[in-house]
Amino acid sequence: MSYVDEVLARVKEKNASEPEFLQAVEEVLESLRPVIEAHEEQYKKEALLERLTEPDRQMKFRVPWVDDKGQVRVNTGYRVQFNNSIGPYKGGLRLHPSVNIGIIKFLGFEQVFKNSLTGLPIGGGKGGSDFDPKGKSDREVMAFCQSFITELYKYIGADVDVPAGDIGTGAREIGYMYGQYKRITGLYEGVLTGKGLTYGGSLARTEATGYGLLYITREMLKCHGMDMKDKICCVSGSGNVAIYATEKAQQMGAKVVTVSDSAGWVYDPEGIDVELLKEVKEVKRARLTEYAAARPGAQYHEGRGVWQIKCDIALPCATQNELHLDDAKLLVENGCKAVCEGANMPTTLDATKYLQDNGVLFICGKASNAGGVATSALEMSQNSERMSWTFEQVDQKLEQIMIDIYHNIDDAAKRYGMEGNYVAGANIAGFEKVANAMLAQGVC
Ligand code: NDP
Repeated sequence: MSYVDEVLARVKEKNASEPEFLQAVEEVLESLRPVIEAHEEQYKKEALLERLTEPDRQMKFRVPWVDDKGQVRVNTGYRVQFNNSIGPYKGGLRLHPSVNIGIIKFLGFEQVFKNSLTGLPIGGGKGGSDFDPKGKSDREVMAFCQSFITELYKYIGADVDVPAGDIGTGAREIGYMYGQYKRITGLYEGVLTGKGLTYGGSLARTEATGYGLLYITREMLKCHGMDMKDKICCVSGSGNVAIYATEKAQQMGAKVVTVSDSAGWVYDPEGIDVELLKEVKEVKRARLTEYAAARPGAQYHEGRGVWQIKCDIALPCATQNELHLDDAKLLVENGCKAVCEGANMPTTLDATKYLQDNGVLFICGKASNAGGVATSALEMSQNSERMSWTFEQVDQKLEQIMIDIYHNIDDAAKRYGMEGNYVAGANIAGFEKVANAMLAQGVC
């Protein structure tokens, strides 16, 4: 049995109840096969893959808080510190009822390679809770965030572990968490990113993941003789990533015709009105039915369905495993040219394979949504030098980072004879830097 198969079998046995984590490990290790085979003896002796697939540590803790009726509620908090061989742990906090240890581990594992791809000195981690901020008052969200940090503060710090936002964790939640961290520790340090602009946040961080997704998409299209102008795009999700992906795509001359949330989706043939979408989602925190009600030409549908709309470019920006094999078949049938992931692992493994086998250009989230964490790292730099950069400075750095990521993953795929396979390219390029650092630092 090859070393990769041996490790895969062991990871499956040890983590049988964590399907998302297994899916992520399988995707990465499968595409690393040629790299591992080239160094099989050394990596095996060093147990490199065993160390890479086992988090440095994982914390699970009780988060008690009091709701507006005076009732005590209890949620579970998590932080998985996966790998800090190239820098302090860095990765978001997800607040969503579906959160469990397997989901946090999959996200933390992916984050290790993504952070490496940015070219910046950040390790990988992830955290969150099964708390659902939806429908809660600001006071309830604050009570939860304060309780969450009262435990988490022990494990984080500006040079140790720097969490950020993710699904359900936006500027409001980060603000409450930062306030509590400061109150407990007395430290005014860059311990969280995604902060408000008046207390150490970075301009362009809000836009970064969505904008970055479009910068890398445009670069890939350019290298294949295409551009964004007049392209029809389908976007899923209507949160932070989806909103700013839609905005940048339209600034580049494309037309985005769909968005979705967990209840339904909108088809707006005239092109999504981004300002209206922001009003509905960022200000009112309402459902997409409100968007459709305010746009006479837009259709609202219950459930899932954005991938049935004919498009040139698909940008899944909601959550994991939201683009299935059937969706991939529809996209191919409708002449889709590129799928670039804004969310983390939104495309299932069989759908990814189908898209690649049918000539659709495909960039996986760990490369294409890395603009968010890259800009978080730029926020850390600004915090360290106690300076704030302009929007244009940050945006330009972000654009260059995304262009560099595209060329790195393209080169890595070519080096191993897999030209155009950007999944393999991303995994290989992300892995090489982390592996070298791990080997150089000895058995730890
Ligand atoms: P938000 O919470 O702002 O938005 C998430 C969107 O996805 C909402 O429209 C939400 O709908 C929808 N959604 C969430 N869960 C589900 C589900 N189970 N089924 C269907 N729809 C769902 O999160 P973000 O935009 O920040 O994150 C989106 C994705 O991008 C995630 O995979 C995240 O990990 C990834 N990502 C985010 C980064 C960032 O900077 N924000 C950076 C890199 C990756 P509803 O409101 O109805 O729940």
